[in-house]
Amino acid sequence: MNNFEEYCTEFVQGVGNKEGAVSPVLTNSASFAYGTPETGEGIFDGSVKKPLYSRMGNPTTARLESIMAKMDGGIAAVATSSGMAATTLATMSIVSSGDEIISIGGLFGGTYALFDETLSRFGVSTQFFDVDELENIQNAITKNTKIIFLESVGNPNMRLPDISAIAKIANDAGIVLIVDNTITPMSILPLTLGADIVVYSTTKIISGNSSALGGCAVFRAINVDGEDKFKTARYADIHKFIKGAGKMALLPNAKKRAMRDFGMSANANASYQTMLGLETLPLRMDRIISSVEIIATELNKKGLNVNHPCLSLHPHHERYKTDFKNGCGTLFTIEMGTKEKAFKFLNATKLATLTANIGDSRTLALHMASTIYRDFDDETKKFLGITDGLIRISIGLENPQDIINDFLEAAR
Ligand code: PLP
Repeated sequence: MNNFEEYCTEFVQGVGNKEGAVSPVLTNSASFAYGTPETGEGIFDGSVKKPLYSRMGNPTTARLESIMAKMDGGIAAVATSSGMAATTLATMSIVSSGDEIISIGGLFGGTYALFDETLSRFGVSTQFFDVDELENIQNAITKNTKIIFLESVGNPNMRLPDISAIAKIANDAGIVLIVDNTITPMSILPLTLGADIVVYSTTKIISGNSSALGGCAVFRAINVDGEDKFKTARYADIHKFIKGAGKMALLPNAKKRAMRDFGMSANANASYQTMLGLETLPLRMDRIISSVEIIATELNKKGLNVNHPCLSLHPHHERYKTDFKNGCGTLFTIEMGTKEKAFKFLNATKLATLTANIGDSRTLALHMASTIYRDFDDETKKFLGITDGLIRISIGLENPQDIINDFLEAAR
């Protein structure tokens, strides 16, 4: 395991100031006074680098965005009001009516619903695939495909994608690859594996304590001098931004084609809280991924039906050891067999907090079929691995032995 050492320095140094207030300055203003009409004109035409209006950007949020961009090796980032907002921003800044999306993975219920129910109302269709259906994914690409969307870890099916292989398919076909890396910040670096945009729900492990809803999209640089998929006819709508902003083009594309009009902007207070979370993210992540392995292994040994790729019978155990050397986040699931048994366990646990969230300091648990996936039909639930007895667990910072004892007691 890598202990995320480089991020320990990067985050605390990036968040704190060397002069004046050490903690990041919280600019709680929706609007900004321009002083003179000339400055106002300059701000709007981009020649004056001062805040325009908080829907388009806020100084506290800008600080968070620069740390997030650096974390993923991107050129720029846009923080948003939630993780769903980051996915919406990234996709809506690229698709138009008639376009197609290929969506691969677990898949978080909100993302599935966005593609399946909402974007379809605007003429954007989506085909869904399991992570190992590489041939079907390849065959599904048409001239209208604009995005391949992938979750770095199936939430909650715990299946692990071969991200490099999927990136190769996307890059060979000249299709944009967006990776939802919510569950594996730092552990997986999608841009280095060939993705174009990374999206996060920062609400989860990045903030880490249920204090702030937020999201972020991180963009790679456009290759201005050489070949780039964004320069092809498939992405003609983005060409004007490449002309105007060069390698930064995905930033104005996201801000002007999504943020300005849909208004999914981060608020400064949430950005501030998220930065406080970032300061300790490497330490929390390191502890939690080690606890996840200890707890999943022990519960499995004691007869609970645990799903996590650290277990040797998991179909992606080998991939876990090679491609996910830094763990795959805070989650595992327990199959209790029936809803009644799942509810009995959830009523008996003394330590797990029952909530529809993951990546918290505390251990969280949720019965999936009766909550996030309650409106999904049987076929979709089967595809997503949602059964009547499925409980999702997100491990927190507690002593792992305390969680093991509590869960074994609750499962009796
Ligand atoms: N992506 C994943 C993998 C998630 O688990 C979630 C939330 O559970 C989201 C996106 C959406 O995040 P938010 O709740 O911040 O909108």
